[in-house]
Amino acid sequence: MLKTPIASRPHDHSHCVHSALSEADALCARQGLRLTALRRRVLELVWQSHKPLGAYDILAVLSEQDGRRAAPPTVYRALDFLLENGLVHRISSLNAFIGCNHPEHAHQGQFLICRVCHAAIELEQKSISDAIIACARDVGFVVEGQTVEVVGLCSGCQGAR
Ligand SMILES: [Zn+2]
Ligand SMILES: [Zn+2]
Ligand SMILES: [Zn+2]
Repeated sequence: MLKTPIASRPHDHSHCVHSALSEADALCARQGLRLTALRRRVLELVWQSHKPLGAYDILAVLSEQDGRRAAPPTVYRALDFLLENGLVHRISSLNAFIGCNHPEHAHQGQFLICRVCHAAIELEQKSISDAIIACARDVGFVVEGQTVEVVGLCSGCQGAR
């Protein structure tokens, strides 16, 4: 059965943003982490769509919309905080960040990235990460982290062709 992920169908995205932010509030409260106003705002910006967002885009919005002259290192530090605590993932191929759907538990993300609309669909398939770990072990390699990025066309963009 074809499951169309929320990222590639029309939906009320304000729900996604709202629930991501309230999950982040809850997670930080539970773990005694400080979700400062800037960290929370950066997370909100990363969540402005299901497309990965670059640090410079974040900086641009901060100065345009918020009139906040945030220095790049401040924004990078906020992004590091969000990454370390699993609230966002880094998509290396796009040099950009995407909000995590399941920040409440540690996981390795796999991403299906649409080359047309740039939406990134997060999968959380343990069998994939286990297979990578097993194959690495066969060649004596210890995996410390893995983010799998797969390029293709999302269901919405296939239809548009
Ligand atoms: Zn959404
Ligand atoms: Zn995730
Ligand atoms: Zn697409």
